[in-house]
Amino acid sequence: MGLRYKFYEIDNLTNDNNILMVNETIFHNANGYIGIRSNYEEGYPQSYDTIRGSYINGFYDVADMKQAEKLYGLVEEKQTMLNVADTQTIYLSVDGEQFSMFEGQVLKSKRWLDMEAGITGRTVLWRSPLGREVEITIKRMTSFVQRSLFTIEYSVKALNCSPVISFCSLHIGEVSNYSNANDPRVARETRKYLLPVNAQLIEGASYLTSRTSGSNLMICTGVAHKLSKEGTVKAEISGHSAIWRAETMLSEGETVTLTKYSVFCDSIRYPDCVRDARSELTKALSVPLQDYYDAQRAYLKSYWDNCLLEIKGDDALTQAIYYNMYQLIQSVGKDEYCNIAAKGLSGEGYEGHYFWDTEMYSQPFFNLTQPSVTRNLIGFRYRTLEKARENARIMGHSRGALYPWRTITGAECSGYFPSGTAAYHINGDIAYSVVAYYLATRDFDFIAKEGAEIIFETARLWLDVGNYYHGRFHINTVTGPDEYTCMVNNNYYTNAAAQFNLRWAVKIYELLKETGRLEGLADKLKINDEEIREFERAADHMYLPYDEEMGINPQDDSFLQKKRLDLKNIPSEKRPLLLHYHPLYLYRHQVCKQADTVLAHFIFEDAQDSETIRKSFDYYEKITTHDSSLSTCIFSIVACRLGLVEKAYEYFGDSAKLDLFDTHKNTKDGIHTANMGGSYMAIVYGFGGLRIRENGIYFAPVIPKCWDEYRFKINYEGSQILVEVKSTQSRFTLVKGRPKKIYVYDRMYELKDCIIVQSNQP
Ligand code: BGC
Repeated sequence: MGLRYKFYEIDNLTNDNNILMVNETIFHNANGYIGIRSNYEEGYPQSYDTIRGSYINGFYDVADMKQAEKLYGLVEEKQTMLNVADTQTIYLSVDGEQFSMFEGQVLKSKRWLDMEAGITGRTVLWRSPLGREVEITIKRMTSFVQRSLFTIEYSVKALNCSPVISFCSLHIGEVSNYSNANDPRVARETRKYLLPVNAQLIEGASYLTSRTSGSNLMICTGVAHKLSKEGTVKAEISGHSAIWRAETMLSEGETVTLTKYSVFCDSIRYPDCVRDARSELTKALSVPLQDYYDAQRAYLKSYWDNCLLEIKGDDALTQAIYYNMYQLIQSVGKDEYCNIAAKGLSGEGYEGHYFWDTEMYSQPFFNLTQPSVTRNLIGFRYRTLEKARENARIMGHSRGALYPWRTITGAECSGYFPSGTAAYHINGDIAYSVVAYYLATRDFDFIAKEGAEIIFETARLWLDVGNYYHGRFHINTVTGPDEYTCMVNNNYYTNAAAQFNLRWAVKIYELLKETGRLEGLADKLKINDEEIREFERAADHMYLPYDEEMGINPQDDSFLQKKRLDLKNIPSEKRPLLLHYHPLYLYRHQVCKQADTVLAHFIFEDAQDSETIRKSFDYYEKITTHDSSLSTCIFSIVACRLGLVEKAYEYFGDSAKLDLFDTHKNTKDGIHTANMGGSYMAIVYGFGGLRIRENGIYFAPVIPKCWDEYRFKINYEGSQILVEVKSTQSRFTLVKGRPKKIYVYDRMYELKDCIIVQSNQP
């Protein structure tokens, strides 16, 4: 294999503003707690746009979200993940000439991400306007082992001169969030969220403390520097910022290294964030940086070992998949106070909000590779259940819980309810994800402690939302996954998800009863056999739209009555449609932003026979724009299920490379984490045909023509299985744990050591 899969490098010789912004995202550093965009340390010319950002997962402020017409229950407060202090700015001057990528000559410039080391970097060979040449190497790390810590190691080598090197390093507390009034996917207006509290220098380190204006949270950031050789150093506070300067002499061929340590402590996790910032910084300074690099590498070694995935014969795709998996571990929250935002910690798109993306797109990856991460994610939903109950009451439901469509705190904060709050399927998605975790791990203890309550409360809501009509249970006026079709009756996906939710509430209830663990919870929730029978009845009578004539599941009751949008004649400048057409215009047409019924055919595939799934796939394929990044991966999985392997391959490629190639033209606002989980699913669930059902684990591998082989490792019920697929056969190896019964192409095998199954791909 030619490429170093876990190393991504680009030549960085462009001054194109958009590409620079995309690279700020692509090379960002994050560890689930902090995320720092990869802005040039020395900045850009005034005329350039940049999103200079440092974020903390779950650290937010609230602000008024005035609705022009005040109707009952509309959300009037929004939550925003904040851009906190800027600690990445470092200016360099060489004998008084200021280093800039836009002046003098950039003779060589590379940016890279080393996914085994957990470090990003820049290497620049620069000739100043007066001809002084230096080589600059900058490495950045957000530590996986000390979550508060971000480091920059900035080295300058004098190549043809013996210059005076000056560094001016900033710690800036006066920062604001990015906004763009013309794009609904980022904030509309700039506000001042962080108010200065204190700025001080203690033993050469600067500490800036700020308070949020509305949510009453505090943050303290601390910055310290180490210089590899003697020099004059000066530090001062100026307003709510600190400036640190150093000057030293270099002889020709000599290198000087400045190491900048930043720590970020918020009052959500750190009871005394000012004191804790000091101790976190002291801790970081007490050992050589190399120790942190070693620990970072060790952390990632064990991570990669758990999620091995390779495609032989397609190096670029393997690299893209590794990139995606790396972003998932960078983005996912690792404590109880947060989750995984739609853009991770890489940018401000969707304002740091958590959506159904977590449960349906990212969590499947963690279920199979690091189930402990999933427990945290479900734990977040468990801890915000009370808020979901409150949300249900606001929405007029007397019982149950309704999870918010988008949130940081657990409270709903979507501004536009037709494609926000109305997306009730999120309740079914969260319930589904609890079951998926259970089926992958059989961790019933966790279900009894946290999962069951989520499943009961979400199930209850359906009874209140829906009603019987001519003997069938209907769910009216909701929005399904497809955001180009809103507020409809009987969205197929939503009804199937509700049915699943209700059925599993019944099963979990019985399981708790059998294991003697029901009582406490039943008392707490006042749930009883009678209510469980109601769940069962609604599930049994759930109405799932089906069109006899066409042999497909209509997306909802009115979908097939609408006219089709003539997609072929809509030019690329008019895409994505949401930026060019009034929502009502889109709602009135048969046009899908993303997989909806097709997603249901993957998630709830047993609800329909293959013929219906095939016809539905053909139908929806023609009217789906994939304007949402959550779409092509699902089409890929269902295409595999239907034996359309080469088509699946194309969809998969679109999904895998979406951010690296900026195909949705908004990677500057952040990565698309759901799609990253989706591209992983496209291999494992798509090509590998993995399904985890109540009675066991199933595989049905297929392989695209241009691949020689692919392999992946998954965890299942505490065992680890390696799957290796070639065009002629697949091999299944038990890597760790107890023997397992597995099904391959629906035939059962006992996996004790290794088995080989001949391919049945035509
Ligand atoms: C999609 C949603 C998704 C959201 C956040 C939207 O464009 O339509 O399904 O949850 O992005 O990723």
